[in-house]
Amino acid sequence: MLEATNEVYRALRQRFRGDLLRPIDPQYEPARVIWNGMVARRPGLIARCADVADVQAAVRAAAAAQVLTAIRCGGHSLAGFGTCDDGMVIDLSSMRQVAVDRNSRSCRFAGGCLLGTVDAATQKEGFAFPAGVVSHTGASGLVLGGGFGWLTRLHGLSSDNVEGCTLVTANGSVIRANAKENDDLFWALRGGGGNFGVVTEFEVRLHPVTSVLVGEAMCTGDDIPALVRHWRDFMQESPDNLRWSLSLRLAPDAEHVPVELRRRPAVTQAAVWVGDIKKGGDCLDHILSLCNPVGVTRKNMSFLALQTMADEEFPHGRRYYTKSGYCKTLDDHTIDLMVQSLASIPSPLTQIELAYLGGAATRVGAAETAFGDRSSPFVINLLGNWSKLSEDVSNVSWVRSLFQSLKPSMTPGVYINFMSGDEEDRVPEAYRERWARLVSVKSHYDPSNFFRLNQNIPPQEMAEKRSIPR
Ligand code: FAD
Repeated sequence: MLEATNEVYRALRQRFRGDLLRPIDPQYEPARVIWNGMVARRPGLIARCADVADVQAAVRAAAAAQVLTAIRCGGHSLAGFGTCDDGMVIDLSSMRQVAVDRNSRSCRFAGGCLLGTVDAATQKEGFAFPAGVVSHTGASGLVLGGGFGWLTRLHGLSSDNVEGCTLVTANGSVIRANAKENDDLFWALRGGGGNFGVVTEFEVRLHPVTSVLVGEAMCTGDDIPALVRHWRDFMQESPDNLRWSLSLRLAPDAEHVPVELRRRPAVTQAAVWVGDIKKGGDCLDHILSLCNPVGVTRKNMSFLALQTMADEEFPHGRRYYTKSGYCKTLDDHTIDLMVQSLASIPSPLTQIELAYLGGAATRVGAAETAFGDRSSPFVINLLGNWSKLSEDVSNVSWVRSLFQSLKPSMTPGVYINFMSGDEEDRVPEAYRERWARLVSVKSHYDPSNFFRLNQNIPPQEMAEKRSIPR
């Protein structure tokens, strides 16, 4: 262990209530690992905090010793920001309390919660928090970056449903941020990522959702571009109750896929309807009949089942690399480029994920929160997903090259939670007209850029060296 990390360890060990894990400790190895197998780093110390006082002590000790510090909730940062080499990780995984208030339809959850932790507690009371689609994702990272999933079109981004945060700032103080207290910080926390402090508790609005209608289907061959075009046109007029997402990929080696189609280019579809069952049934019947689909299913599903439906598709430890962007419209040429790219896709696990936002997320004003672009509804996420280290180069190159060819069709901007670790230059682009205000809030709450393992918004002096792309 480096001397600086050792100093932090010595400063903390007397009063720390959680676990302090060093490379010599047996619990260190499993605690070190994060979701993305591409990011294998070895921090000098993992401070697994038991409570807010532990977080304060850890921040103060690391700041005093000037130790590089990563904050980890679920460890799902695609870029790997939940860990570092040699420095310290503040691990919040022991802080997973959730308190639901039925009367106010709200809940408070601690900064280490996974989405599944929040869902389990809120569903017991008949409510849902709009968040992401994989239950082992950390709630903090997702919410601080924005957060979208099955309920977004109806109830907004996760961050749009945040009413307040409690956080430990860079000097170790505990403060609250909401519409009345530290409102500039509250603005920045809704989309600005982990730049401003360690959020130890979120207070969020809930919505009465316990079951949904879910349909799935797959199209292949010439039906792929035709289906994507139908989807593009349909979503622009569709009710907010519908979230219909597509994945361009190779057909999976799964039981429900006819043998002759497996590993052939395909578009898989998942459609979720929240609300009136009759209207939803008619809508799903229509969209799931387009372009000669195979493997069509349609069923009622509990919200908890929906939220865990994709869990196994994205397991911990595989190798992942992503590039993402927004489009205002999706022209035929862009669709053709994506479809053609399937011919050279190096991994049967890789997907080009297509989502359409719109709905409630676009009814929040662009300046109301720090979240990036709300005006370009099409989200393209190239998610490289493979198993072997020896295949890194081919998979990363494929994602990069497809991204370069799609870039001219994209609007400037990117969803920060879908960025990879080599895209620091895109952070100003992600925030554009919100950048200057974010830099000002950062300068006030974290002038030394202590919280820098993130999609970093540097304080003023450092920011002047970066530029906002036009
Ligand atoms: P971590 O790696 O723990 O942290 C990520 C970042 O957040 C770091 O910069 C960290 O410093 C900061 N951070 C974490 N906790 C705190 C805290 N308490 N206080 C301050 N800063 C903190 N996104 C969506 O919007 N919708 C989806 O449906 C979706 N699905 C996903 C599925 C998978 C399998 C994966 C891997 C990611 C998905 N994402 C989705 C992206 C996801 O939002 C980001 O990866 C997010 O960063 C994950 O949060 P985390 O807490 O697990 O990450």
